[in-house]
Amino acid sequence: MAQENQDLIRPFADTATDEPIINQAPVQKILNICRAMSLWPMTFGLACCAIEMMSFGMARFDSARFGAEVFRPSPRQSDLIIVAGTISRKMAPLVVRLYEQTPAPKWVIAMGNCAISGGPFVYKNQYGIVEGVDLIIPVDVYIPGCPPRPEGLLEGLFQVQKKLTGRRWWPLPEQARTSDK
Ligand code: SF4
Repeated sequence: MAQENQDLIRPFADTATDEPIINQAPVQKILNICRAMSLWPMTFGLACCAIEMMSFGMARFDSARFGAEVFRPSPRQSDLIIVAGTISRKMAPLVVRLYEQTPAPKWVIAMGNCAISGGPFVYKNQYGIVEGVDLIIPVDVYIPGCPPRPEGLLEGLFQVQKKLTGRRWWPLPEQARTSDK
């Protein structure tokens, strides 16, 4: 990214959080399993990848099966931010504000090539696009593709759950096919 382009982006979001009130390992472990199985994504899309994100919540892919069906209309009620789409420089401060309004603990998925690195909009001297959401807020899981399919987003959700609890909760697609036979 050109230096002048980078200089115009707001500094990294404020990521400081308070210590938990109860900080005992067994309690945190149980809380993290509860959090992992009830992640609430924010209703928030930036471009075409958001259409795939909508499929993820609807009947065919049905994220409700994995505890993440309640797309919340406010960052104050969410704990999972799916950045789905191209981040224009005009939208970047608003993405940072949404991140800061989301209460901790919170997790971020960068969905699609635009959110990861600017995608097909990166070219010499471009000035309108942020070349990766991790330039403005911290990211936990990256899902490549243009756009990624809803199954890819499901896998991203599983990876957030794994990050929270230290284990994978759902079978890999190959294992699921074998167990169906
Ligand atoms: S990665 Fe592709 S599908 Fe997703 S927002 Fe960018 S151009 Fe659209």
